[in-house]
Amino acid sequence: AKIYHRADYSYFTREMGVEIRERVRMMHALRTAFEDERLFIVFQPQVHIGSGKPIGAEALLRWKTEDGTLIPPDQFIPIAEYSGLIVNIGEWVLRTACLELSRIHQSGLQDFRMAVNVSQTQFSHPLFLQLITSALHDAGVPPENLELEITESMAMTDPDLLIMTLEKIKAMGVRISIDDFGTGFSSLSQLQKLKVDKLKIDRAFINEISDGTNDGSIAKMIVQLSQSLQLEVIAEGVENQLQAEKLMSFGCDHAQGFYFAKPKNKVELHTWLQAYL
Ligand code: C2E
Ligand code: CA
Ligand code: CA
Ligand code: CA
Repeated sequence: AKIYHRADYSYFTREMGVEIRERVRMMHALRTAFEDERLFIVFQPQVHIGSGKPIGAEALLRWKTEDGTLIPPDQFIPIAEYSGLIVNIGEWVLRTACLELSRIHQSGLQDFRMAVNVSQTQFSHPLFLQLITSALHDAGVPPENLELEITESMAMTDPDLLIMTLEKIKAMGVRISIDDFGTGFSSLSQLQKLKVDKLKIDRAFINEISDGTNDGSIAKMIVQLSQSLQLEVIAEGVENQLQAEKLMSFGCDHAQGFYFAKPKNKVELHTWLQAYL
């Protein structure tokens, strides 16, 4: 038994070595890509379900390598977080998103909001509040039109720090939404303490609406929860009319998903928004 054990062990560490080398390689590539401005942002419209009219957009980060391959954010964001690169990259995302928001406001859509994903490392950074102030100021956009998307899991790592930071952000007038809501097991009492503005129903619960496993009972429950806590609610990953109609019948007014609009680059977004000016 001992021999097998040792064999397993060496096999395991060899695999881990490969994985760590791969991660380090990717971290260097990511840093270079950021310096060479090969990261860019796309914007996915968020709409009023009934009318399809835009209410805002979510900024989503993209990485295109030199040979033209797109690396999905699910693959490189964890590396950016783990290496600390997310602090500088996240600052750039926030500033760029605010500048884009300013242009959209100037084009005539004054109520338009911009949602920006913020990770744990950024959020707990001592200069994060200053960064928000500075990004809003430099772009000249009202704080009410900026929405920061945080995840439920952030509520679990350091709830006290989170509550304190959220209070300061809210005092500035910036809005907070909980991303992927329903997947992170945060308790309802925690949710109430956090005093966020909005719940974003995770795509998984929207997906269920069409595949016959259930009728979207979890999505419905989250909409009801948002109503009783007087929070806004938005569904993400809406891909078809059935889902849109079901969500409307649940009382969910806002949605984001391929059915309404795919993520767009700046130019595409402006063209898409023209129809609503
Ligand atoms: P997320 O915040 O949940 O973003 C929504 C993801 O769902 C996006 O994937 C979007 O393209 C995709 N999506 C939107 N509508 C639909 C739909 O109808 N069907 C399907 N199947 N998918 C849809 P994306 O852009 O690949 O982003 C993945 C994740 O990467 C994001 O998930 C977010 O957690 C993270 N991420 C992206 N940009 C940033 C960023 O700037 N900062 C941080 N910290 N994280 C980011
Ligand atoms: Ca998000
Ligand atoms: Ca999400
Ligand atoms: Ca998600």
